[in-house]
Amino acid sequence: RPRVLSGIQPTAGSFHLGNYLGAVRQWVALQETHDAFYMVVDLHAITVPQDPKDLRANTRLAAAQLLAAGLDPDRCTLFVQSHVPEHAQLAWVMNCLTGFGEASRMTQFKDKSAKQGADRASVGLFTYPVLQVADILLYQANEVPVGEDQRQHIELTRDLAERFNGRFGETFTVPSAYILKETAKIYDLQDPSIKMSKSASTPKGLINLLDEPKTTAKKVKSAVTDTDTVIRFDTENKPGVSNLLSIYSTLTGAEIAELEEKYAGKGYGALKTDLAEVMVEFVSPFRERTQQYLDDPETLDAILAKGAEKARAVAAQTLARTYDMVGFLPAK
Ligand code: ATP
Ligand code: MG
Repeated sequence: RPRVLSGIQPTAGSFHLGNYLGAVRQWVALQETHDAFYMVVDLHAITVPQDPKDLRANTRLAAAQLLAAGLDPDRCTLFVQSHVPEHAQLAWVMNCLTGFGEASRMTQFKDKSAKQGADRASVGLFTYPVLQVADILLYQANEVPVGEDQRQHIELTRDLAERFNGRFGETFTVPSAYILKETAKIYDLQDPSIKMSKSASTPKGLINLLDEPKTTAKKVKSAVTDTDTVIRFDTENKPGVSNLLSIYSTLTGAEIAELEEKYAGKGYGALKTDLAEVMVEFVSPFRERTQQYLDDPETLDAILAKGAEKARAVAAQTLARTYDMVGFLPAK
């Protein structure tokens, strides 16, 4: 079986619709066909300030949401990144292989550091794409299911894998991004020119999966569209409406063309009312399942402990080989 790896940050508490449609939904599907490793990336979360108590709670909450979304610990390996120390260890080696200019070109870093004030951004934020490289290479992943915003980091991963293999000898699998066109980028409902994001969205434009269902419905109904009234998929001229159609289509399995036909001659109100209903039907059971996992923290922690053990077995092997290739003297 080919291998996949991906991760999600335990920063904001609730996952948002972009996380689910852009990434987690694919993770659930891929556990059937791939040897799948999925993690809650707490090391990435501390690249921006985190409250320790919140971080701990949000890490469990992220794992609970992943299980609620359909990850099955018998079909995939689910773990917490900091439970596997090899991530930080391989990241150091990769840091030493990355050019300063190369890292400076990462657009996610540029956006995130600009938001904090460039001087205040941590060095960790600067090198987090390189930690991500290590995350992926440790598992010799063939594919990495992520949203469009991560494409540049996967490119960096490929470059560094090839660079290392070229310099020291064949060590790492060169991975590919697994990005589905329809859901590669879900946009903020209030500002369809920016991606829906844990850290950058407007509260009204962000669909949190754990919001009260009536809040979710309200956010859908107040989504920004345009002054025209035609319901048509046209990302250039109608980004707001197109975003709603993409979401609707993915959640229901209906083709976009079918939806355009269904709503021909009807106003945006009808589309939004129906989509709000579709969304509530999706988030209500998701919230319940998440709560069930949270109510049983012992079971949750046991799943994560077993996941970490399985992940470590793979990660330790890759790290040992990497250290050897680099020329580190083995510890006796
Ligand atoms: P932040 O803005 O703090 O980076 P985030 O909203 O991007 O948070 P992450 O935990 O960084 O959340 O991302 C988890 C996964 O969700 C990644 O694979 C990312 O590509 C994907 N993702 C995030 N936002 C979107 C979006 N708007 N559309 C599609 N996929 C997304
Ligand atoms: Mg992100």
